[in-house]
This record gives sequence, structure tokens and C-alpha cells, in this order.
Amino acid sequence: MSIQTSVLEELLQSSPQLRPQLYFKSSLTALSHAMEDQVLAGGSQPPLIIASFQRERFYRQEAHRYERIAAITPHVYVLAAPETSFTNASREYETIAFEPDDQLSQEWHLVVIGQQYSTCLICHERQAADSKQDAAHVLPMMDQTRRFEGIWTFDRQVSCRAAEILLDRIFVYRPELAAKIKQAKAEFLSDQSGGVRDIDPDPFAQRLVTYLQAGQYKLQKAYRSIAAKEQQERLINLITSAIRQSLDPNEIFKVAVEELGQAMQVCRCLIYRCKASDPETTIMHEFRSDAGLPSLLGQTWPLQNHVLFQAVAERREPISIPDTSQSAEINLSPLKARIEQWQIRSWLMVPVIYQGRLLGAVELHHCQADPHNWSPGEIDMVEAVATQLGVALIQAESYANLEDLNQQLEALERTRSNLIAITGHELRTPLSTIQVCLESLSSEPDMPPELRQVMLNTALTDAERMRKLIQDFITLSRLESGRVEWHLEPIALDECVNLAVSSIRTRQTDGALPHISAQVPSELPPVRADGERVVEVLSKLLDNACKFTQPEGEVVIEAKPNGGKMLEVTITDTGRGIEPNRLETVFDRFYQEEGALRRTAGGTGLGLAICRQIVKGLGGQIWAESDGRDKGSKFHFTLPIAQDPNPPANNGAKKPPRGRLKRATLS
Ligand code: ADP
Repeated sequence: MSIQTSVLEELLQSSPQLRPQLYFKSSLTALSHAMEDQVLAGGSQPPLIIASFQRERFYRQEAHRYERIAAITPHVYVLAAPETSFTNASREYETIAFEPDDQLSQEWHLVVIGQQYSTCLICHERQAADSKQDAAHVLPMMDQTRRFEGIWTFDRQVSCRAAEILLDRIFVYRPELAAKIKQAKAEFLSDQSGGVRDIDPDPFAQRLVTYLQAGQYKLQKAYRSIAAKEQQERLINLITSAIRQSLDPNEIFKVAVEELGQAMQVCRCLIYRCKASDPETTIMHEFRSDAGLPSLLGQTWPLQNHVLFQAVAERREPISIPDTSQSAEINLSPLKARIEQWQIRSWLMVPVIYQGRLLGAVELHHCQADPHNWSPGEIDMVEAVATQLGVALIQAESYANLEDLNQQLEALERTRSNLIAITGHELRTPLSTIQVCLESLSSEPDMPPELRQVMLNTALTDAERMRKLIQDFITLSRLESGRVEWHLEPIALDECVNLAVSSIRTRQTDGALPHISAQVPSELPPVRADGERVVEVLSKLLDNACKFTQPEGEVVIEAKPNGGKMLEVTITDTGRGIEPNRLETVFDRFYQEEGALRRTAGGTGLGLAICRQIVKGLGGQIWAESDGRDKGSKFHFTLPIAQDPNPPANNGAKKPPRGRLKRATLS
């Protein structure tokens, strides 16, 4: 059975002078507890108590109090809508179970009728307009802000009327209590005159204040935790947006160290990258609250004998030390000196981990005289930041791998386009010539011997051109994809130059070469290079210089130190020169000024591209210079000077060691 009328409404009808007021649940709890405690404090006569809870679960929270109250008075009635085991019963006190859809489930009542005083709390819950579901179960915080409307008074008449209404209801639910109810009415409700009689209201007010204070502390705690959460979220947002804006861990660490240091109000914050096995790291990111504090920026931070780091790396979890002077482990380790030098009083170290892999660490230091107890909230916050940093590092790493793969793909793509160009244009022409020559030779057996010789020479020349082209193509492809073994050793440049010059002279004996002179002092320090590759570069540049210079012109090879740790080689010719806008393009693959099909000087168009790759691989640079058409050209390249680990005692009189050079095989 359920009753659909409200107790509050019934009371207001019979006492129209009453003005209902709004109460939050926290206030009702405080009032109810103060009223119950007043009963528990005892008095001359046992009072009548009627308490109606909306649901069994609210009653359960107070059940122990009602057991204690029942020890004081036999007139206790507790009403609630059952959820598990609450039933109609007569034990230490009367329990009355009403249906969940009864109006009582919307109301909160507590009536105390004693000899000296009577008081009542009769309220009806206001449903929150915006939520149908019970917010009380969603957020405990929200539960405290549930709102009720009703009456709280010490007025004896009103309290007796409220008790009467409730006793009448109890009779409806539990008619078997008729006699007990009748007796209660006679005993407590017959004399309704007066209000508080001979009672000191102070203890009640004090109890009330105590409950309200306790509620305030709870609120304060809740606000603090909300503020901490908000600060954590703000920090994480800042770092995440830094991660979104940059893939550079340094930039992200810069933001993170500053924000974290400030948010945690520490004296020093360090963030560094490292592996568990690293013997040390260099501090690149530091926050200091006070410029007077010694800075660790740029310092080497040993990790091997860092007991704290070793423990963090092993356990993969944060470690905090409130007072370093009290930590026996630290004081017995080499860290003690560091703690003194860097004035670290309290220490928190949090690992930066991604999928179980240690990527770095975050350290927080307090350097003031008093120790600092690191709270779980603080450690949580640093851990949350460290997690974001882990993600940033992995993201940057993946991006770098991707870039690497991209470069490899680009190299492959270059090789592929070289191959297409070579087969499409460069090989087809000589191949067709060879085919025509061979076909003519085979179809015309009576061909005059002179013409026959011309045919054979043409076919052989083009076959040689094809061989050179394929050779250069393979060399360039290997260089571009990094599949080259460098045999680096101290090399004397004059020897390389001599080899290159004699090689070109051996190949061109027809006297069509311009005058070549080499001005490379033998006292020059050796370069650290691969001798055969250096000869290859010199030969190709020399070849070009001779190819594009009239026999009456001149080619000069010079070498000199170029200020720093490099030697610079220059090959100057007086030939046809290069237009200023072509000085870079000549190093492109297959670049030939006259185009592949109108080639007059021979060559593959790959020579300078190969030279650039070799010089780059040896750690130098190559560039061209020319004043323009018919003004001659200059090709420069640099190579690193070899560092002599044992300089000769007789002040350089001894010749530097030289790498042995084979005669270069020029393609
Ligand atoms: P090639 O086999 O055609 O010589 P290279 O890569 O060595 O191929 O040179 C590319 C082009 O650069 C040449 O075809 C030529 O147009 C220009 N070049 C190279 N060296 C010289 C030079 N010393 N003087 C003028 N032009 C040059």
C-alpha cells in the first residue's frame, strides 16, 4: 500500500502560519544529527522519536544511532522504503516499511517530542529540473547539494501535529501497532502548550555548528582535490598542445620543465632523456625557482652511481625522499656529495616510460631547510606529465624513423629514375648505332675494308660509351644509397694528383690535350680520405677540364690549406666556361649543356654527380666557379686534413705517413 499525499502539505494545511524554507541535504544532515544527539544526551523522560528516511540505504548509515537511541526510549519509530532487508518489525524499535512509490520516499522527517522540548524537521525533496536519474548515485559531491523544502522548528504545537500525522500513517502501514500508537499519542501529544521548557539550547547549537564545520571541511577537501585535478589537467593540456605543435622533444621538454616546476612550486625541476644502461646524461632542461640556486644546466649528471636513478630504473616507478639527510642509503652512496653540492633536501624522481621502456626521468628537488613530504597527488601529477613526455619521445622517434625511411625511398626513387633515363635515352642511341653497324657489316660482305673499319670503330666506340655509362650509373647508385665502403687513411694529395694526370696523359696520346700543370706542394699535410676515390674525383674533373678546353688552352691543378681543418683542391681551365645560372645544375645527374643527343665532347653526364657524392662522403664540399661563357671554369673541392696522433719530434722534418695508392682505373 502507498499513500500519495505529502506529510509536509498536510502539516502546512493544518498550520498555515508556517513558511517552508529551502535546505540543502548537508544542512538537514547536520540538523538531524544535532537533534538525535540531543536525545542521546538524555533527559528526565524518554522522548518520542519518529524518523522517516527516504530509502533503506539512508537509514542504514544511521542505524547504529537508532540502536543507541532505542536504549534511551521505547518510543522509536523508523520508516523507510526497503531496498534489501528492511521490513515491518518490532525489535529494539519499530520499523515501518513503505512502498518505494509512497510520497514518504520524497520526504525527510524527524520528530522528537520530549518533556522539556520538542522539535521537528519535516521536508520534501525538490526534484532537480535537469536530471531524471538520481544524481546522488553519480557523484557523492552532488548528493550533498540535493535540495529540500520544509519546516524545522522547536514549536511544540507544530511538532506534535507532525508527530500526529506520522503516527496516523504508521497506523495505516502497521495497524497492529494501534494500541502502542494510541498510548504514544496520549503520553506525548495531549499537552501541546509551550515550546522549549527549561532546556539549555547551547549544546544543540554547538552540536549543529560542529556538524556544519565538519561538512565545511569535507567541502574544502573536495575543493582542494578539484583544484588539484584542474591544475593537473591544465598542465597536461599545455604539454599535449606543445606535443601537437612540435615533434622536437627539446621544445616539448622546454615547456614541460618550466610548467611542471612552476605548478609544483619546487626549487628545481629536471627533465632528461636516458636509457637504463646510460652511465651519465647531460642536463639540458632545468627549472629553478630562484636564480641564486646552483644550476645543473649543461652539467654531466652521472646515472651509474645514482642510487635513486638505479632504483627507479629497476622498479619503473616513482621514488620520493622527503628528507635526504635521513636516508641511510643515500648518505652511504656517492650521491651524498651531489646532494650537498646541489642543496637537495627533498627529492622526487619519476621515470619516463613507454611500454615498459625507460626513456628518461623527471626529477623534482626542494632545497629549503625543511623536508617536504611528497603527497600522492603531487606524485600523480608528475607521473601524468611523465606519461605525456613518453608519448612525445616515441612520437618523435617514429617520425625520425619515418624520415629515414623516406630518405631511403627517395634514394631508391632516384636510382629508379636514373635507370629509366639511362635505358630510355642514353643506352638506346649507342645501341642503335652498334646495331646498324653490325647489320651493315653482316649484310654487305663486299664492303670496302676502309668503310668496314669505320663501321667497326663506330660500334666499338659506342659499346665503350655504354660500358662507361653503366659503370658510372652503378657507382652513383651505390654512392647515393650509402652502399659504399670507405677505406679512410692519411693520403698525400700530390700523389693523387700525379696519378690522375698521368692517367689522362696515358689515355689521350693524340696531343689534343691542353697544357696541364700541377702545383701541389708535397709538404702539404696528408688528408684523411679514400685514395682511390680521391683519384677518381681528380680524374673526372681533369677529364672535364681537358674535354671543354681547346688544345692551346691550359689546365692548372692547385691545392692549399683553406683556413681550418681542410685542404682545398682547385682545377682551373681556360675553356668554354659555365653560365652563372648553371654552376649548381652541372652537378645534377645527366646534366649536359648540349643535351644528350647533341653531345660533342662525349661523357655520360654522371661524372660531376659522382664527384659530389664522393666528396660529400669524405666529409668535404665541391663547387664550381666561372665568369661565364668562354671565360674558363674552376672546380674546387675540400677534404679533411688527417690528424696525426704522434707528431714527429723533429718539428715536421719527417714526411707524413702516406697511404699507398694503386694506379686509378678510370672508367
Ligand atoms: P659529362 O660526362 O657530360 O662530362 P659531367 O657530369 O662530368 O658529365 O658534367 C656535366 C656537364 O657539366 C658537362 O656536360 C658540361 O656541360 C659541364 N661541365 C663540366 N665540367 C666543365 C668544365 N670544366 N667546363 C665547362 N663545362 C663543364
